[in-house]
Amino acid sequence: WHGILKKIDDYRWEIPQSYKVGMRVPGLVYASERMLNQIWEEHAIEQIANVAFLPGIMGRSMAMPDIHWGYGFPIGGVAATRISDGVISPGGVGFDINCGTRLLRTNLSVEEVQPKIDELLNELFSKIPSGVGSSGNIKLSGTDIDNVMTRGGSWALEKGMGEAEDIKLTEESGSLSGANPDKVSNKAKTRGASQLGTLGSGNHFLEVQVVDEIFDPEVAAVFGVQALGQVLFLIHTGSRGLGHQVCTDYVQLLNEAVKKYGINLPDRQLACAPLKSDDGQNYLAAMACAANYAWANRQCITHWARDAFMKVFEKGRLDLGMDQIYDVAHNIAKIEEHMVDGKVQNVCVHRKGATRSFPAGRPEIPAVYRKVGQPVIIPGDMGRYSYVAVGTETAMRETFGSTCHGAGRILSRGAAKKTTSGTQLLDTLRSQGISIRVGDIGSLAEEASEAYKDVADVVEVTHKAGIARNIFKTRPLGVIKG
Ligand code: 5GP
Ligand code: MN
Ligand code: MN
Repeated sequence: WHGILKKIDDYRWEIPQSYKVGMRVPGLVYASERMLNQIWEEHAIEQIANVAFLPGIMGRSMAMPDIHWGYGFPIGGVAATRISDGVISPGGVGFDINCGTRLLRTNLSVEEVQPKIDELLNELFSKIPSGVGSSGNIKLSGTDIDNVMTRGGSWALEKGMGEAEDIKLTEESGSLSGANPDKVSNKAKTRGASQLGTLGSGNHFLEVQVVDEIFDPEVAAVFGVQALGQVLFLIHTGSRGLGHQVCTDYVQLLNEAVKKYGINLPDRQLACAPLKSDDGQNYLAAMACAANYAWANRQCITHWARDAFMKVFEKGRLDLGMDQIYDVAHNIAKIEEHMVDGKVQNVCVHRKGATRSFPAGRPEIPAVYRKVGQPVIIPGDMGRYSYVAVGTETAMRETFGSTCHGAGRILSRGAAKKTTSGTQLLDTLRSQGISIRVGDIGSLAEEASEAYKDVADVVEVTHKAGIARNIFKTRPLGVIKG
């Protein structure tokens, strides 16, 4: 990459528009020099350049430091498109539509939880189904599934699974507007009908964490994090088979649209349609359905997790203090207001393995956080640590209000499996004081720490570049892997 990428500063590297004929804007990757080597090797830079071909792309085709190779767009990719002549691309959202994270706090300390961690994991494991294609405790009829897709988190609330505060502390209040179940195939609905309230497999997890380091006590306190040793609970899952099917259906459909509209793309996986076209609008309506399903999913899991904690610690809901900190989407496209070329305009922001990072003052963020900015949840891996950051003005100016979503893979699943075995990994983690429950031991090694970048390196980049500000750090006590 020497002589090809242009160094802007220690954490910003430009991919000049001349890199590839057909790029409409330059690219920009947030990374340290050391991280760039690996990013270059897996050709993820090529994907950033390819995204720059999309009609109506604004500013720059961007990648966060957790970037790695993905379907069409890189994971860690951010691209904003103009409403008037721009496109929407399902590959810029990803197969797990509204995969995201939800963080809850508790009043429990590590001293109280450590002795009971195995009991707690067993209880969580029995209440929340996990594993490939797992089906749940909720059976949805045809009209139920439509309601889930239009109402999202509120649907779960009406069924007694959750609290009004949970909804307020969820991005988009757990329900993206414009959802239209008529635009979702029966196949997708059928896949979704049996999977609500399930974790899924592989990278999805439930994690009991301890606050390990606080960088900004004032903002941490606003997020309800008061002291080292406080126990938190993190949920990572998405829209299960329903979202996957919506993506599959629309990639196929929009491949036809690309021909119809004569769009020139360097990669078929970037299939897209004009935002203003019926094809584009239909995808957005279906994507919103899947996003809402994912919020309902995380809401149901939240409810059962509270039950499990109450049972194991023999505490009431208030005593337990298991309130929601926030829920963020990291695979989504949204129409948002941004200042571009000196004027405020609506744009379509694709965040694929990227998190919104809105600063203080933005009306979209919950009232309780409006003075400090939104919480940004950044999981690391099951053996090391995770971070919570806060959104910034710099993100607003540079990245359409976006930052990283995790550590990002460095090893493919296959390569990770060669480094260790599932049972060996369980032993190693146990010796570090981390308990694991796993649906499929055969795939556990794919999730070893070595398979991921060190998230501390990733958030050093976002923090120093200023697109999110680090607030606190956690370490895992117990993890349920799907
Ligand atoms: P993704 O949505 O890209 O699959 O995953 C988001 C991020 O979650 C990954 O980039 C990785 O850093 C992180 N992650 C994966 N597994 C675990 C886990 O078991 N615990 C924690 N804390 N983070 C994880
Ligand atoms: Mn996912
Ligand atoms: Mn995810």
